[in-house]
Amino acid sequence: MNTIKAVLFDLDGVLIDATEWHYKALNRSLGLFGFTISRYDHMATYNGLPTRKKLEMLSVESGLPTSLHALINRVKQVYTREEILASCWPTFEKEFMMSRLRREGYRIAVCSNAIRESVELMLARAGLLEYVEFILSNEDVKAPKPDPAIYQLAMSRMGIEAHEVVIVEDAAHGILAARRAGAHVCEVAGFHEVDYWRIRRTIDAVVNPVRQAA
Ligand SMILES: [Mg+2]
Repeated sequence: MNTIKAVLFDLDGVLIDATEWHYKALNRSLGLFGFTISRYDHMATYNGLPTRKKLEMLSVESGLPTSLHALINRVKQVYTREEILASCWPTFEKEFMMSRLRREGYRIAVCSNAIRESVELMLARAGLLEYVEFILSNEDVKAPKPDPAIYQLAMSRMGIEAHEVVIVEDAAHGILAARRAGAHVCEVAGFHEVDYWRIRRTIDAVVNPVRQAA
């Protein structure tokens, strides 16, 4: 019989509705230098990638000078912090989901392409930090998602195999990383779709596929 021992969560668009905060913070910092990124492009192409990757792509596509990357990145982090402090609050669905999964014995970690400071701040503000065994950020791996390294590192740190893991992801880059890691993937369209019952159904479908299909 299949067993699930851990649930690994992406952060943005899964546990936290942060996509808009990242978009606004990036655009505010780009705007200081006369550059901009459309909401459509951010959703379609950039969402889920680390800021440094987004800036590399903007240099190729829009001629953003690479000499500005470090400064824009630092300013963006300041603006991201402002957005988090203004808009990040606990929600019942996510706190209930995390506490119940923990009570049922599942191990929980968060694997995000964001920097560690943002990940910790968001989880703390949302009241979710206490449920998480550990956090992996883009500072913990050489290659960000869609590379599977961050999920592989989480599984090896827990000492568990990919078939014992459910990964919850929203963006295309994250879903690809989760698939490459070989785990069971719970794909969601966004933050609003993530609650205990959705995770429960995903786990049940893995543990008892015949009954689910009947
Ligand atoms: Mg995401």
